[in-house]
Order: sequence, then C-alpha cells, then structure tokens
Amino acid sequence: MCQLIGPGCAETAGLPLQLLVSTLEIAPDEPGHPLEVVTHLRCALEAEHNGPHFDLVRVLDGDQGEVWARWAGGQEPEWVAVLADCTADNGLPGGANEACTLFQGHRGRHSFACADFELDPLPGTDRVSSAP
Ligand SMILES: [Zn+2]
Ligand SMILES: [Zn+2]
Repeated sequence: MCQLIGPGCAETAGLPLQLLVSTLEIAPDEPGHPLEVVTHLRCALEAEHNGPHFDLVRVLDGDQGEVWARWAGGQEPEWVAVLADCTADNGLPGGANEACTLFQGHRGRHSFACADFELDPLPGTDRVSSAP
C-alpha cells in the first residue's frame, strides 16, 4: 500500500476458520457476512517493522474502528480485535489531506507517510530496488 518507499511488509497469512467466526461475531450490532471478511492476509505495516504483523480483516460501520488480525511471522493468526482507527493525518489542507488507514498505536509509519520526508526512513527501506 506504500508504493513510494517500497512494497511494505507484505507478510502473508491465512485467517483460520475460528478467527473468521470471531470476526463475524465481534460486533454483535453488526451481523457480518463471511464474504466481507478478508481471509488472505497481507501485513499492512511498513517493511522491516518490529513486532507482530497486522492486517485489516473487516471494515465496520460507524466510528468504533475496524477489525484487525494479528500474527507472528511464520505462524497462523491467533487474534482478532476491534482496534480504533489511527487518528493521524498528514496535516495538509483540503483535498491534499490524507488520513492514516492503520489502527491507533500501530508501529512504524502512518500509511500516508510514504511521501513524507519529514519522517526518517528506517534502515533497510531506502532505495533497494532503484535500478532501471
Ligand atoms: Zn508485517
Ligand atoms: Zn497511523
């Protein structure tokens, strides 16, 4: 999701059936449909981040946040939870304003920070594949 600094983490995992059920039951006010749940997970954080991987598995109506799955590298997801949306935005006015699409308290950069050079790039994320 971050095309300017590289491919992002992109660690993949499959959502176990038990967590698919949990994802549907996690918001009792909003009955979900299995087709709304993302089961082929692809980590949404930046490349080389520390800690567990996260991907959004279900978008909820309203402002209570979205459902995210968490997993450790090379393992099945063990956990889904409703996480509040990250409240950061890029601070630009009008149409240039872009909010972070990740969850509150996430590691690494905000999703809009791809082209934001005010933040220092992490080691290992710069220009690995700039060859023509
Ligand atoms: Zn990751
Ligand atoms: Zn953020």
